[in-house]
Amino acid sequence: MTKPNEDQLIGRATTHLTRCWSGALVHCDALSSLEALRDKASKAGFELGIASSFRDFDRQRLIWQEKINGCRPVYSASGERLQVSELSGDELLSAILRWSALPGVSRHHWGTDLDIYDAAAVSADYRLQLVPEEYEEGGPFYEFSRWLQLLVEEGQACGFFYPYLQDEGGVSPEPWHISYQPVAGDYQALWSYERFEQLLNDDCWPLSENIRSRSEEIFVHYVAPMIKLSL
Ligand SMILES: [Zn+2]
Repeated sequence: MTKPNEDQLIGRATTHLTRCWSGALVHCDALSSLEALRDKASKAGFELGIASSFRDFDRQRLIWQEKINGCRPVYSASGERLQVSELSGDELLSAILRWSALPGVSRHHWGTDLDIYDAAAVSADYRLQLVPEEYEEGGPFYEFSRWLQLLVEEGQACGFFYPYLQDEGGVSPEPWHISYQPVAGDYQALWSYERFEQLLNDDCWPLSENIRSRSEEIFVHYVAPMIKLSL
């Protein structure tokens, strides 16, 4: 096992990654367990598809920038599209935080976390939306999701778990997001409020003034739940 370094923690390095069968980048130490999970899924009649895995700092920052510029939709907590020009900086910040991790703070930086679906349940040209309805009863990935959740409960999911299954108020539930705990735990352990403050000072962030003035509240409500830190 390789211990994470600073750059790997915040998505500024790719040295901890390797490509899996789909070409997606995953953490070197998570690959064999991911392949084992894929094989289990396959035996149960599913095909583990990867919608998204590693994402770097700049990619996450671009997502934020596009939401601020209005090039990407911004939604309210209840899922209605918001008019960016009508929001104050603080309102915009809160709305984006509900759906997107701040750059440097995403579990997707670690290579241990993936957004998955059942590729056997849909046609090759299906447009994946990653919305809860696709994973709930009546949705194409319901059976797969139920199967894997049960496997996680039984401790048979090769080290993977669902970090965002419940709505805990800050971060919205993501029934498609799984994490490889044996490695993710090492990354998680490096996180603290001090590190967050340091990150805020180091970089030019979108809406940085708003973030700095609310840094404690943002850490408690959005960063800690994102990283799964218990405060
Ligand atoms: Zn995700």
